[in-house]
Amino acid sequence: QEEHLRKPEWLKIKLNTNENYKELKKMMREKKLHTVCEEARCPNIHECWAVRKTATFMILGDICTRACRFCAVKTGLPTELDLQEPERVAESVEQMGLKHVVITAVARDDLKDGGAFVFAETVKAVRARNPFCSIEVLPSDMMGVKESLELLMSAKPDIMNHNIETVRRLTPRVRARATYERSLEFLRRAKEMNERIPTKSSLMIGVGETWEEIIETMDDLRANNVDIMTIGQYLQPTKKHLKVQKYYTPDEFNELKKIALGKGFKHCESGPLVRSSYHADEQVNAAQAN
Ligand code: SF4
Ligand code: SF4
Repeated sequence: QEEHLRKPEWLKIKLNTNENYKELKKMMREKKLHTVCEEARCPNIHECWAVRKTATFMILGDICTRACRFCAVKTGLPTELDLQEPERVAESVEQMGLKHVVITAVARDDLKDGGAFVFAETVKAVRARNPFCSIEVLPSDMMGVKESLELLMSAKPDIMNHNIETVRRLTPRVRARATYERSLEFLRRAKEMNERIPTKSSLMIGVGETWEEIIETMDDLRANNVDIMTIGQYLQPTKKHLKVQKYYTPDEFNELKKIALGKGFKHCESGPLVRSSYHADEQVNAAQAN
């Protein structure tokens, strides 16, 4: 029972940590920037950085006020608020020649605005320097404060992404400081504020949900007008994190994608290695074509 499930073949991929990234990684350190690509040791880094020209920046520091049980980001009380960060992110996007950038952040529950001001400034700074780069934001629920969401939406990101992460029943166990309803409300409000900005949400599976619960989550997202959905396999970052309860097969992921599209999502990425930001460049076009 307590034994770890064996990793199936389709997940045994080599991490691509070759020379190509040395320069970019050095730039990140010099600019004191964090990317999810590096910190989560994302297996897609070569494809994203080198081929698709996309990356995911994590702003507002690398210490989170929350401690979701699937997430490897450090928990603690952040102290800094770096007002120069937006400009440094913008410069890096330029140096990397990105076509699509995802900007995410730790949850800054210590700040009244949840970090919305710096978030919005980052969107504006990136756009000013990189007018042809599409910008996707991936904020926390910013404690459900409507004004914070308004501030971020006023910067007009190309995609508003907020992850539901798991099914309703497992939310208290998986991300204790968030609620399923608040995340749905966040997505619904974003759409109400600007219906032209596509909304998006990601679900990670393999933490103990049932197939029916996955489908219910799709229905809940659609009922709140979410346009794009991504579904990926949960992988345990360290032994202290939640155990993987199930490895879904590539066929099951394909089946879920079909079901999602049948429910009216404009785009769905579903696969073992799919991450919230995976193939995000395609999603902008898909969502805007409709
Ligand atoms: Fe970075 Fe996301 Fe690509 Fe992974 S999938 S390398 S986190 S942009
Ligand atoms: Fe990780 Fe985000 Fe949860 Fe913080 S709020 S622990 S960064 S998933």
